[in-house]
Amino acid sequence: MSAAARWPSEGSRLATLLGKLDIRQPEDLLLHLPLRYEDETRLIPIGQTQPGVCAQIEAEVLSCEVTRPRRQLLARLRDDAGSEIVARWLNFYPSLQKQLAAGQRVRLFGEVRGGFFGVEMVHPRLRLVDKDTPLPQALTPVYPTTAGLGQPSLRRLLDAALDAASLDDPMPATIRQRLALPEFAETLHALHRPPPDADARLLEEREHPAWWRIKFEELLVQQLSLRRAYNARRAYNAICLPPQRTLTRALLEHLPFALTSAQQRVIREIAADLAAPHPTQRLLQGDVGSGKTIVAAFAMLQAAENGCQAVLMAPTEILSEQHYRKLAAWLAPLGIGIAWLSGGRRKREREAELERLRSGECLLAVGTHALIETTVELPRLALAVVDEQHRFGVRQRLALRDKGATGSRPHMLMMSATPIPRTLAMTHYADLDVSTLDELPPGRSPILTRLASAARREEIIARLKTACQNGQQAYWVCPLIEESEALQLKTALETWEALKEALPELRVGLIHGRLKAEEKTAAMAAFSAGETNVLVATTVIEVGVDVPRASLMVIEHAERFGLAQLHQLRGRVGRGAAQSSCVLLYEPPLSATARARLRVIFEHSDGFAIAREDLHIRGPGEFIGARQSGLPMLRYADLERDTELIEPARELAGELLAHHPEAVAKLLARWLGHREGLLNA
Ligand code: ADP
Ligand code: MG
Repeated sequence: MSAAARWPSEGSRLATLLGKLDIRQPEDLLLHLPLRYEDETRLIPIGQTQPGVCAQIEAEVLSCEVTRPRRQLLARLRDDAGSEIVARWLNFYPSLQKQLAAGQRVRLFGEVRGGFFGVEMVHPRLRLVDKDTPLPQALTPVYPTTAGLGQPSLRRLLDAALDAASLDDPMPATIRQRLALPEFAETLHALHRPPPDADARLLEEREHPAWWRIKFEELLVQQLSLRRAYNARRAYNAICLPPQRTLTRALLEHLPFALTSAQQRVIREIAADLAAPHPTQRLLQGDVGSGKTIVAAFAMLQAAENGCQAVLMAPTEILSEQHYRKLAAWLAPLGIGIAWLSGGRRKREREAELERLRSGECLLAVGTHALIETTVELPRLALAVVDEQHRFGVRQRLALRDKGATGSRPHMLMMSATPIPRTLAMTHYADLDVSTLDELPPGRSPILTRLASAARREEIIARLKTACQNGQQAYWVCPLIEESEALQLKTALETWEALKEALPELRVGLIHGRLKAEEKTAAMAAFSAGETNVLVATTVIEVGVDVPRASLMVIEHAERFGLAQLHQLRGRVGRGAAQSSCVLLYEPPLSATARARLRVIFEHSDGFAIAREDLHIRGPGEFIGARQSGLPMLRYADLERDTELIEPARELAGELLAHHPEAVAKLLARWLGHREGLLNA
């Protein structure tokens, strides 16, 4: 009999309930694994049960009654050794009382307590038995389930599926032996029907060899499916951009600084990608201030020296403008122009830029998401760079990709200053090549971080005044108010007013998201030029803003910010040679998590270390956030606990894809089935 024959028909109540558990095919059911186990293979004499521990007892009903005024069903029972126990039900059907007739032999399973009536069990699981009813031969699995679908029904379905489904093992035997993994059928039996002598603790803690196989296989399937998506995208054509070393060499000669060796390595990696006839799909990770922009400039020039177009997309107007200015300055000595598209530019300027791009006269452009508008024509687009890529949605990245020159897809370089730990990168970015800038440019002095209670605000303001009178510049970051943008704006204005009043001898600027583009530009320009001493800002300055002379930052209500955000904000200072400092003002009392977060920021300056701690505090699901909406989440493997399985899974994925396509197909069908489609975006 095939498993499919017994499968509930579509639309039936059972199918709907299973659907809620994301079980849509027999394979899903087989991989719906127990949360824990109950031992019904043994009977414990009532006299030997322990309070607080689950036990199964067998006894005869002495009496059974419904009590008042608090309506309860109360049964008194005695086992063969003569010990008594009381079973209590607070909710019950009348039929239960009938079942518990005096003299009836029953098995009760539940937690034993010492109660008012002596030893008792509340709401035990009940089974009517005879003197010779055999005991189960396996531990009883307890599955995650949903209202309306009881454990017994799930167990029955699983028993049927285990008997009927073909449990052949797609993993080649040689590989299984090499990795010392149990066989698939053996694995499922060990998990769904563990024998009475199985180590329940190993099973529950998911350390049993059968669990290794499951977790390993889950990670393997994740790698396979991400690599397949990668290969599918790689199959498209892209314009080859071999290094001509005309413009890139000129840029190198004119640069005011020497590249770090990390930058040189990453530039080489990207240069090799761009020379290939298929689209680059690379993520460039590098901590705040590691110098990603210049890497992007080299890549863009490699496109230009092949007569092709390249764009750089940034998430905010402030950042796009800053990139524009920086790139324009680097490119000016090379005699190559760059267009700038952002929502805030005047219509006439915008039209002129669009025309220069449409005609191909201009090869390079920077901008916000204004770049993906339909009016933007880039007939020779061969490379798209996305800065702070996590700030963009999948759709925006795809829209940019679709702007590629006819018959090809552009090379895509994604940049991110939110470094993620290596293990997480290996699992969640397995569909990308990853380059890492693991070195900061020389000459940066470490940022001094201090924590101060909001009660010391006056004192901080006084210090800020002295610092600014000595020629330093400062950011004052307003509290984040996630619930209300209006309130956030109000707070920013109030903070600005208050600081102007407290610091009459200084010039205090203000920047926030609601300002018009020109106003933002003016506020940033005045601060960059040193015309304002203090810049009161909301989180609009969080990403990318680069004013090397600013060396002081105060963050109000630091406890409201996330770790990555604090790290990004703090990264706005420490960009020049001057000693920089960052004061985190917090409002006591702090919650335990807020305290833990502030401690991490206080103790660490390296983005990777902070990301690791963040992962630890928040767990991978939340940490990864929206980027992964299309990815199958890991149900069983735990990226923190099971790190040692990741590397072998990755290696094996490569081997299977190269040599065992049929195994790949079976594994993907078994684990992802209907879900695989989600991945190809
Ligand atoms: P991020 O990686 O955060 O985007 P940026 O590209 O904004 O960093 O670079 C930070 C600052 O460091 C910029 O002012 C940039 O011009 C400068 N910079 C980049 N590379 C170097 C280098 N090799 N030596 C000195 N300064 C550098
Ligand atoms: Mg940047």
